[in-house]
Amino acid sequence: MRLPGRKVLRRLLRPLRKALRPGAVVLGYHRIADLHWDPLELAVSAGKFSEQVDVLSSKLTVVSLPELARRQRNGQKLDGLAAVTFDDGYADFLESALPLLSRAEVPATIFIATGCTGHSFWWEELAALLCASQRSVESIRVTLDCGPHGIVHTSLSDEASCQRAVRDLCHQLRGADHSTIASVLTQLRNQIASAGATEPEGRPLTSAELKRLSALDFVDVGGHTVDHGCLGELSPTAQRQQIEKCQENLEDAIGRRAVSFSYPNGSLSVETPRLVAECGFLQGCTSEEGTFGPAADPFTVPRLWAPNVGGAGFERWLSQWSRWKP
Ligand SMILES: [Zn+2]
Repeated sequence: MRLPGRKVLRRLLRPLRKALRPGAVVLGYHRIADLHWDPLELAVSAGKFSEQVDVLSSKLTVVSLPELARRQRNGQKLDGLAAVTFDDGYADFLESALPLLSRAEVPATIFIATGCTGHSFWWEELAALLCASQRSVESIRVTLDCGPHGIVHTSLSDEASCQRAVRDLCHQLRGADHSTIASVLTQLRNQIASAGATEPEGRPLTSAELKRLSALDFVDVGGHTVDHGCLGELSPTAQRQQIEKCQENLEDAIGRRAVSFSYPNGSLSVETPRLVAECGFLQGCTSEEGTFGPAADPFTVPRLWAPNVGGAGFERWLSQWSRWKP
């Protein structure tokens, strides 16, 4: 999960950065799905993703993230290269993204929060509850043990206010522990139960599905911690536990050690990249916007979050960052 943030100034600086700091582009996705209700802006529709893959494979040379990092270590040229990544391990990667990637021979990395496999993502449960709330309640009141507000009292008069409530609560809960998140979900269920909440939309991959994916040579399975918390808000010891356990869990699930890592919520402290390296990973992706140049740190790889647009819009958007292959 990544929360939508401020973008205007960075957008104005893109042409300058492209001219001064060329390099490869690393695309970030979460879900490939056709959604009406997507308050966290996580999805690109399957049709639009298909067009985006066509643009990527015709305009750029798409390599896997490990191969991109290898080329950087060897001092090879990075302009005109791209890598594709997916955060969180949603099952729709298997159902919707994989056939399109396979057809176009585009490799991809999928980052797994190993403690989330086998049950719903908490933010999807929260979004499903608030989606149901549109039909049943006019406002919600939630007591938080974390974040700056303590008590959140939100009006849910229309769809836009429900979407804002999802984003606000997710933002405040993104580094929270299990019990705080469970408490908020229980409070929401108690207030919204009368209408019957819908099932959470996107489910995580199961262990069996993960094993199937890892057998494909164009899929790189990477780590995304165990609990999907904010590493940057944890002590170095607690960070190491999250990163080390994630590596162990992945090794059990796929039979080999993972080499790629992504920082959940883009959160990291000065110690985090070193800890990720010490746990056997060779590269780490942030949520910072930018290109991956010859001098970049392979443990703070910037990414570009793909917008939910068709081929022409995607090509225009990507041209702000990338020089096309000859
Ligand atoms: Zn994530």
